[in-house]
Amino acid sequence: MFSWLKQSAKKFGLFSDDDPPPERSGPRLIPRDQHIISRAHISPNALKVLYRLRQEGYQAYLVGGGVRDLLLGREPKDFDVATNARPEEIRRVFRNCRIIGRRFRLAHVHFGKEIIEVATFRAQHDEESEEDALNENGRILSDNVYGTIEDDAWRRDFTVNALYYDINDFSVVDYTGGVADLDEGRLRIIGDPVQRFREDPVRMLRAVRFAAKLGFRIDEASEQAIHDLGHLLEDISPARLFDETLKMFQAGYAAETFELLRHYGLFGYLFPETDAQLAEERDNFPQVFVARALENTDRRVDEGKSITPSFLVAALLWGPVSREAEQNVARGMSELEAMQVAGDAVVARQVRHVAFPKRFTLQSREIWTLQERLKRRGGKRAELLMQHPRFRAGYDLLMLRAECGEDVAELADWWTRFQSADEDARQSMAVHTGQPAKKRRRPRKRKRKPADQGTA
Ligand code: ATP
Ligand code: MG
Repeated sequence: MFSWLKQSAKKFGLFSDDDPPPERSGPRLIPRDQHIISRAHISPNALKVLYRLRQEGYQAYLVGGGVRDLLLGREPKDFDVATNARPEEIRRVFRNCRIIGRRFRLAHVHFGKEIIEVATFRAQHDEESEEDALNENGRILSDNVYGTIEDDAWRRDFTVNALYYDINDFSVVDYTGGVADLDEGRLRIIGDPVQRFREDPVRMLRAVRFAAKLGFRIDEASEQAIHDLGHLLEDISPARLFDETLKMFQAGYAAETFELLRHYGLFGYLFPETDAQLAEERDNFPQVFVARALENTDRRVDEGKSITPSFLVAALLWGPVSREAEQNVARGMSELEAMQVAGDAVVARQVRHVAFPKRFTLQSREIWTLQERLKRRGGKRAELLMQHPRFRAGYDLLMLRAECGEDVAELADWWTRFQSADEDARQSMAVHTGQPAKKRRRPRKRKRKPADQGTA
């Protein structure tokens, strides 16, 4: 074929170098002896749910990330179950069950800390109900039309997420070509990419998250659609974007996710001010800084250490906050006040895009002001600062700044030495902070209150 024709055909999604998606036909069944899923790898509670539903006469399958990850030989994060039982019927079967969600009603079956999510098979919206269920951008507002397992497979997001493990005969059921895509390392949205991303723009973020986590490549047609439709994320509630942001940055693949978000032009819809700085290309400090921060986060996840969204916010917004703080100083504020005011302002603007709850942003502000407070180390100050609940995070941010070339290497080094020093060494370090000793002010004489004012 002429190459220009091929190119324009590609541009309009008419064809790609990828294999064509399968037509709607019967499922491909992969019998028990031809895949690697064994019940030993499935959570006993998920198995209980599957068996119990079957016992009550319902169909029951493991589906979604659980099946995908097991087929890849990975440990699933959680287990989702799909069934033809309706939410009320599921509740009748399990006492330890709660129905959640409005847009998408689901049953949560609780076993101590573990929750097994049980969803009723759903169908795509048909033409008639479509008007009520979609908004003017084609976004799904309500998704409670029940259907068969086949309908359920086709309404899912990616082919590799639409595989079912059948508890009856332990086979894997594949309607959409997910097994072939798993083999190829390909992430392919089911159906027409433009339509499916319009229905739910968060699927673009999910594409990036799975591509990063699985090391998969996003297929060409989906890729093109993501490049074109990123702006639809402006329509998504900041609360939902918060949920997705945590999933993207706390799963152990944050650095790769960040690269992909930037590549597809999506990062700016989550962190517009940071993104604007990254685009300036005056120097590559912000780029290196964010990448390093996320690599550290990934390392901590890998080592099983705790991570907190407040540090993530503090690191991702450090660029905008520190710049605004500098401007505040130029306007005559003290350095500490400048940092506080800048932190407040940047957070107030940020949460209009991604709604980080106050309990996290308050801590991020502490981490930022600690960048100033850590400079003042004289007398008993250093010891006291170490008691600060955010000291560790503040120190980590300071170290990161030093590593990335900010002019705080000496200060960071001082704190590293101070923490490992014994008491005597600490005392002498506290004297030699390089700061001029503060003049002691005489306490001002207070006027005595007249006795007759009493205690109010
Ligand atoms: P993980 O749990 O590892 O993050 P997952 O694939 O299980 O990945 P979930 O968010 O738990 O992701 O969703 C479970 C399944 O529900 C998905 O695999 C997919 O089939 C379906 N799903 C979830 N979100 C959407 C969506 N926005 N659009 C269509 N299908 C979805
Ligand atoms: Mg899941």
